[in-house]
Amino acid sequence: MIRKKILVTGGAGFVGSHLIDRLLKEGNEVICVDNYFTGQKQNIVHLMGNPYFEYIRHDITMPFFIEVDEIYNLACPASPVHYQYNPIKTVKTSVSGALNMLGLAKRINAKILQASTSEVYGDPKVHPQREDYWGHVNPIGTRSCYDEGKRVAETLFFNYHWQNKVRIKIIRIFNTYGPRMHPHDGRVVSNFIVQALQGKDITLYGDGMQTRSFQYVDDLVEGMIRMMATREDFTGPVNVGNPNEFTIKELAEHIIELTGTKSKIIYKDLPSDDPMQRQPDITIAKKELDWQPNIQLKEGLTKTIDYFKKIVIH
Ligand code: NAD
Ligand code: UDP
Repeated sequence: MIRKKILVTGGAGFVGSHLIDRLLKEGNEVICVDNYFTGQKQNIVHLMGNPYFEYIRHDITMPFFIEVDEIYNLACPASPVHYQYNPIKTVKTSVSGALNMLGLAKRINAKILQASTSEVYGDPKVHPQREDYWGHVNPIGTRSCYDEGKRVAETLFFNYHWQNKVRIKIIRIFNTYGPRMHPHDGRVVSNFIVQALQGKDITLYGDGMQTRSFQYVDDLVEGMIRMMATREDFTGPVNVGNPNEFTIKELAEHIIELTGTKSKIIYKDLPSDDPMQRQPDITIAKKELDWQPNIQLKEGLTKTIDYFKKIVIH
């Protein structure tokens, strides 16, 4: 067995910690770099005794040197509440972070995967979204620090590939949920589940008719691993998401039903630039990664609710 050395930035976060579990299970050595901005020690504490796991507290806006075979670049706050808290820092994390990680990949000839996002499509005018759609992003909106930061990161990845032959892989992740989301993360699935379990009002923004396509985290991790293993000349970008689209109101209703809560839905203002619809076209993922999601919404929500029942004070 070949034990690869793999760097995961943002590894103490929701997605990163699941990815690390899987990489270690497959017999690799993993180095997790995280500054704990939105990540939690709790997500990786079960790995601390593993000799093939190493945690380094570091901010990727600063250079970082190490010898590894592969890099998964996930470090970046992903919830609108958190990425808007310090928007300049969010841009720096995406842009300087990408520069630092790409510089490292170039120096040590490592393969590097970028966790990009469906947000590069902004509030899309094409539906469902295919990878060749350029998007509809407000460059000076409240979400632009995240959207434009991730778009520049994709640009940097491709320019390092063309100019310096760096082996890049880009995935565009659509809304993902599951255990280890931070209970105060502010994203819709965790908000609704915590509110339902605590018997609080469920806060629907706008009329709830905006849509999202929700992917369970295990499906995403499978897609990431497959993407990293694709043929040498394949860069992506590839959409990784679940094409089953729901209105946010439907999501609230599912969570009310599955938790059996007496919570009531209340309506709040829709945040500015909130995309009206989102659904991935996953034709390329099916063809190039032989991948499609296996876990549908109710099954994934049930697992996620079970997790939150253990950590939320009722
Ligand atoms: P998360 O907030 O749980 O994890 C992000 C991690 O990055 C955290 O542990 C945080 O502490 C760390 N981090 C932030 N800034 C850093 C910095 N400057 N230096 C080092 N570490 C830093 O979010 P997540 O949902 O796990 O998202 C992981 C990645 O996937 C992000 O890049 C995000 O943009 C991308 N993504 C996620 C989703 C989703 O629905 N979860 C959708 C699209 C894209
Ligand atoms: N949303 C909501 N109530 C909440 C949190 C979010 O209605 O308590 C809505 C939000 O306005 C958006 C959708 O749910 O339309 C998804 O929001 P999230 O922040 O999870 O992700 P993103 O908008 O980045 O897709």
